[in-house]
Amino acid sequence: MELRLEGVSKTYPNGTRALHDVTLTIPRGMFGLLGPNGAGKSTLMRSIATLQEVDAGSMTFDGIDIRKDKDRLRDVLGFLPQDFGVYPKVTAWDMLDHLAQLKGLSQRRSRHDAVKALLTKVNLWEHRDRRLGGFSGGMKQRFGIAQALLGDPKLLIVDEPTAGLDPAERFRFHNLLAEISADIVVLLSTHIVSDVADLCQNMAVLAQGRVVTSGHPLRLVEEL
Ligand code: ADP
Ligand code: ADP
Repeated sequence: MELRLEGVSKTYPNGTRALHDVTLTIPRGMFGLLGPNGAGKSTLMRSIATLQEVDAGSMTFDGIDIRKDKDRLRDVLGFLPQDFGVYPKVTAWDMLDHLAQLKGLSQRRSRHDAVKALLTKVNLWEHRDRRLGGFSGGMKQRFGIAQALLGDPKLLIVDEPTAGLDPAERFRFHNLLAEISADIVVLLSTHIVSDVADLCQNMAVLAQGRVVTSGHPLRLVEEL
């Protein structure tokens, strides 16, 4: 189970070259995509998540040709976008239960078990009957992870999740991702070096749409 990108390129209609010949192999575990604002991280993640098209290159995950077979990829994908927003007046329980129904979990008992397990996993079970509008930034992000994990994805994409979180929440969020990534591929984008150094087994640095370097975070530091 791995995500493979080969020669992925994307130029926006206004001429901005967002991705240039990106080639990466992303194995099971935590993979950090590090780069400054504008490097192309969101473009790459949204493309892998089948939310936008690239111009050239191939992207495969676990035998699935992502560009050709979007539906199959979506079946195994969890995505937490950068601008993740919640419905403020809905409770955590109701929102997740509703999304689980949309995912096809029609049988009430097993759906409730799944929702309970997810809220417990992200440490929000005691807040299940609170409205999402009253959640802190960190709680919202953890709720976003619960939402992204509905349907047991094999590939989880998380775009700049810790921006705006305080250190305690960031630590908590990292631990959650580390736990999740034991079994699946987790791709995390960030502009914060310590996010990848603390958390990721593998990483790549993206700048101006190109992969500048990739490998194990500690090994990359040693090479400096
Ligand atoms: P990052 O996530 O690393 O901040 P993005 O993928 O958002 O980078 O952006 C990469 C480049 O593409 C930037 O120069 C950005 O301004 C540009 N860009 C992003 N989205 C669009 C768009 N829809 N149209 C034109 N240019 C875009
Ligand atoms: P309704 O379908 O009438 O809206 P639910 O049974 O879905 O009611 O949920 C009502 C409340 O009961 C929820 O807000 C949730 O806190 C709690 N609840 C529902 N199912 C479970 C469950 N399996 N385990 C624990 N609490 C549950």
